[in-house]
This record gives sequence, C-alpha cells and structure tokens, in this order.
Amino acid sequence: MMPALGDPSNPLRVAVVGAGPSGFYAAEALLKQKDLAVRVDLFERLPTPYGLVRGGVAPDHQKIKNVALVYEKIAGLPGFRFFGNVKLGQDLSAQDLAARYHQVVYAVGNESDRKMGIPGENLAGSHSATEFVGWYNAHPDFRDRHFDLSCESAVIVGLGNVAMDVARILAQDPQNLRSTDIAGCALDALMKSRIKTIYLLGRRGPAEAAYSPQEIRDLGELASADLVVKPEEAAVAEASRPLLADPEARKNADYALEKSRAGDGAKPKKIRLRFCVSPVEVVGEGGRVKAVKVEKNRLVPDGRGGAKLENTGQFETLPAGLVLRAIGYRGVPIPGVPFDEKAGKTPNAEGRVLDAQGKTIVGHYAVGWTKRGPSGLIGTNRADSAATVNLMLADAKAGQALKPEQDAEAVGDFLRQKGARPVSFADWKALDAIEKERGKALGKIREKFSSAQEMLSALEAKACR
Ligand code: NAP
Repeated sequence: MMPALGDPSNPLRVAVVGAGPSGFYAAEALLKQKDLAVRVDLFERLPTPYGLVRGGVAPDHQKIKNVALVYEKIAGLPGFRFFGNVKLGQDLSAQDLAARYHQVVYAVGNESDRKMGIPGENLAGSHSATEFVGWYNAHPDFRDRHFDLSCESAVIVGLGNVAMDVARILAQDPQNLRSTDIAGCALDALMKSRIKTIYLLGRRGPAEAAYSPQEIRDLGELASADLVVKPEEAAVAEASRPLLADPEARKNADYALEKSRAGDGAKPKKIRLRFCVSPVEVVGEGGRVKAVKVEKNRLVPDGRGGAKLENTGQFETLPAGLVLRAIGYRGVPIPGVPFDEKAGKTPNAEGRVLDAQGKTIVGHYAVGWTKRGPSGLIGTNRADSAATVNLMLADAKAGQALKPEQDAEAVGDFLRQKGARPVSFADWKALDAIEKERGKALGKIREKFSSAQEMLSALEAKACR
C-alpha cells in the first residue's frame, strides 16, 4: 500500500513559481511543518531570487533589502531546491508541473502596471514607474530603457510608496546613491540630470494619500529638495474628515499642512506635491512629452459618510519632459494558468485558484500580489502565504491534491533535456559573490548583472577556473 502523503517515503511535493517574498514565505510555511514531510522546488524566471526585494526596493533603502538574509535561510532548509532561469510557459509548462507535483503555488507577482487611459500616455518620455524602477535596479527586463533626464521638470502620477521612491531617486543628490547597488547606467544618468522640479500628483486629498507617513517625511527631509504644498490643497475636505480617525491618514494630513506653511524654501530642487488634480492629457510636441494637463477636483460627500471626487472644469498645464505613472501594478497572464484580465491577477478564493466557471482547481494555489493584488509591505506577504499554505495542508489531508505520475526529483534533468539552463541556489550564491566583488572595485555594495546571459557567462567562467 502507498504510504500516506506527507510520510517521509511519500513527501508532499510542491512547486512554487516565483522567488519573490511571497514565494519564499510559502516555502518557509511548508518546510517548517514538523509532522509532515514536504519538498519544495522554487522556480524563477530570472537567474536571481528575491523578486521586488532585488528589482523593486530602492537602492537607498538597503535596510529593507536585508530581508534577503531571511530568504537565504529558508533556501537552506532541508527539502528546498531553487531552479532559477526557468520560465513557466516557456521552459516548463503548467502541465509539466501538474505531472510532477502534488501542489503548485503561483507566486508570480504583478509584472506590469496600470494605464492612465488618457491621450498622449504613449508619447516618448512618458513611462511607467515600473520601467523606471526596474531600470535603476538593473532588472534584466529594463536594461535597455532610456530615460531623458535632461529636462527641467518631471511629473509623477500617483501618491503611493512607489511614487515616493521614484521622486526620492530623482530629487536627491545622486552622490548619496554612489555606493549603493544602483545600476551603473542609472547612476550616470542621474549624475547628469537637469531635473529641478518634480510634480507629484494625487487625484484625491492629503487624508487619502496612499504613501506611508515615513515615506513622505523622508522626501520632505531631503537636503537637496524642498517639498512644497499649496495651502489651499493641504486643507482636508469636510467630506474626508472621517478618514482622520486613522492615525496614518491623520499624520499624512498634518504633515501636508506643516509643509504648506513652510513655503517654497531655498533648496535647489522643488518637489511640488499636488492634491485633487487628475491628469487628463499628456501633451506632446514633435512626438515627445512637453506637459501634463490636469483637471482640478474637489471632494464632496458621497451620501454614505465618505467622500467622492467631483470634477471642477478648471484645468492647469504643468511643464514636463518626463512623465512617470506610479498608479499601481497589475499581473500578466501566463500560458496555462487562469488569469482574471479585469483584476490583473490569478482568480482565486482565499488562495485556491479558480477556473473560468469559478470552480476550485484542485492542487493549484496563489500567494502574494497575484492572489490579492498589489498591496501591502514585504512583511504582509508572510501571513498571506502562511494562510494559503494552511489551506493547502488541509486540502492535502483531505485527499484534494494532484496525482503526479512523473518524478519531481528529476525535474532538473527534464529541464536540461529541454535545453533550459537552470540556475541552482549555489549558482546564485556564486553570482552574489561576483556582484559584491565587482562592486568593491567601484566602491559600491554590489555591481549587479543586468542580463541573464551575463550571469550565465559569469557562472561558466567561474566553472572553468
Ligand atoms: P498604491 O499604494 O496603490 O498607490 C497608487 C496611487 O496611484 C494612489 O495614490 C492612487 O490614488 C493613484 N492612482 C491610481 N489610479 C490613478 C489614476 N487613474 N489617476 C491618478 N492616480 C491614480 O500603489 P504603489 O505605489 O504602486 O505601491 C504598491 C504597493 O507596494 C503598496 O502596498 C506600497 O505600500 C508598496 N510599496 C512600499 C514601499 C515602501 O515601503 N518603501 C515602496 C514601494 C511600494 P487613489 O488612492 O486615489 O486610488
């Protein structure tokens, strides 16, 4: 008789797809089970692990990146294997996984972004913050991007923490970034940047801003730039006042007010934080961005105790040679994996993946941003992944799992036979050491590789030594 699933001779075999925080936290929750034998194979399309911790967190936020040490420990747990440089839907199909594992967890995040849906959005000089962030973080997808920083004024749309990161990178003295792991091309461009004015545009008021109080304060305390707020825009609308019961909203509103009283200041750069303005057009000239036209809004009672936006019919045009929209991420579909086009994520019920009819697909799960959308901080993903894992364990116990017929242990050989070149965690550690060594020569924490090919060549060169 076949031993029970989870017996050491018949371990629960799980494939996790995506090596960002949510993928690692799912692996951790699975591997820390005491009375269940579990094996986790973590697949990642890039040769490098850590998702947005490597490719999203700003280079001047190195402390946040230290969370990678936690993931490194998870990678050292018995039963864990890493297969980097393996793209689902290309090197490996969803069916290949279903044939080898009892359960599959999608931790694929949100690789794309939302659009504003206004005229001129696709003009040269108008980009998503996703691209800009990927570029300064040496993400292979964005290494060929070019951002023209020779203009005097930039517009950032959105008031979330991504907008804060992007504004801080543009507004601070680039000397601060010299020793970080910023991409070399981005550091060079920022050193030559002529941007003096950065508009940060929020469609609602200071009580509704999505940024965290610490992030706006960091921006307001830069040595190189004044954070400037118009007094008439800092006032919280009557309809928004109930929001001030939330301590974060209260702090944000108070800080906007404080800044509105400080005037323009005397620092060389200005970050003009604007509230209640919605971009209605990216204005171009000769195919390039020249300005952003905004309509002023007001917040009025929505009849349910909250506030809603109302257009005023008053417009303003802000000069801009660079436009970055930071209005939220969204997922991209993967062949063979259900996708909710409207929500931009994997359709799921508390992490159990659903088919087009809304029925649970046995053995398939989602964690992180592809489960709940682009919200929360890195740590939010720990409890989120653990919650999905609890369901997975309950399902497995109830016999609700896939019935693999192929040997998961041999998945590396299977990939190599198909022409893939999987990168192990030991390979990643070798790359990590090489990047740190390259950084030393430049006085940086690390000099990242920015293409899979460069990384594979470096590994080959090391093997030949
Ligand atoms: P976000 O927090 O959802 O903020 C999106 C912003 O875009 C909001 O201000 C939103 O305004 C605005 N927006 C959306 N659609 C718009 C439109 N059509 N026109 C104008 N404005 C629009 O998203 P995010 O900044 O991408 O951040 C994603 C997640 O990552 C968040 O949980 C964030 O905290 C986290 N993160 C954290 C850090 C950090 O801790 N340092 C850094 C980066 C990201 P409304 O509120 O009016 O919708």
